[in-house]
Amino acid sequence: MILPVTIRSIQHYLYCPRRYGLLEINRDWQENALVVRGNLVHERVHSGEHSYSDKDGFCRSNVELYNDELEIYGTADCIEFERSDKAEYSEILGGRYIVRIIEYKPTKPKSALAEQSDMIQCFAQKVCADSIFGIDCECMMYYADVRRRVRLPFETEYDKYFSLLNELLGNMREVLDSGVIPAKRKGQSCGGCSLDGVCMPNVPKYSVRSEIRRMAEDE
Ligand code: SF4
Repeated sequence: MILPVTIRSIQHYLYCPRRYGLLEINRDWQENALVVRGNLVHERVHSGEHSYSDKDGFCRSNVELYNDELEIYGTADCIEFERSDKAEYSEILGGRYIVRIIEYKPTKPKSALAEQSDMIQCFAQKVCADSIFGIDCECMMYYADVRRRVRLPFETEYDKYFSLLNELLGNMREVLDSGVIPAKRKGQSCGGCSLDGVCMPNVPKYSVRSEIRRMAEDE
C-alpha cells in the first residue's frame, strides 16, 4: 500500500527530515512567532474573502486537492478560474478556463533551499489540479511582504520538478515506513524551527561509553 502524503509535509521534510519525522511519526507540534505569522497570512486567504464570481470567471480560496497516482493531497490557498476562448476546455468546469493556483507566502524565501521548497509545494498542487481539472494549470507565488506575484516556470521545467517530487515522496515514505525519526542532518540549520524544544538539537546523543567514562572521571 502506498502511504498518502500531505503536500504541506513536503516542505517540512525539505526543511529538515528530523522535523518531518517528529511531526508525522511522533505527532509533535509547537508554534513560534514564524509559524503564527504564516498562519495569519493564510487565515486571511482561507477566510473566504478572496472568493468571488463575475463575468470573467471566479475565484475560490481553501481548495482541497488530491492526486490518486502520487497519493498526495492538500489545500490550495486560492485558485482563480479565468474564462478565456484561448484556454483549454475543461470537462469538469464545463468551459474554457485559465486555471491559476496562487500560493501565499508571508515573505520572499531567504535561501535557495527555501525557494526550492516553496516551488515543489506549489508544483505538487499543480499536479493535483491538472488531474482534477484536466488542463495545464498555471502557478503563482504571492509574497505578502512585497505584495507581488511571481509566476512559476513549470511549463518549461515540468519534467525536472516531476522527478524531484517523485524522488522526495519516495524518501518521505521510507521514513514513514521505517517509523524511525531521522537524526539531525549534518549542517542542519535550526534557526526558526518551532520544534527545537522537542528536538533539543544541541543536547549530545546519549552514549553508554561516554556515560561510563564520565562516571570513572567522577570517582
Ligand atoms: S531543531 Fe533543528 S534538527 Fe530539530 S527538528 Fe528543528 S530543524 Fe530539525
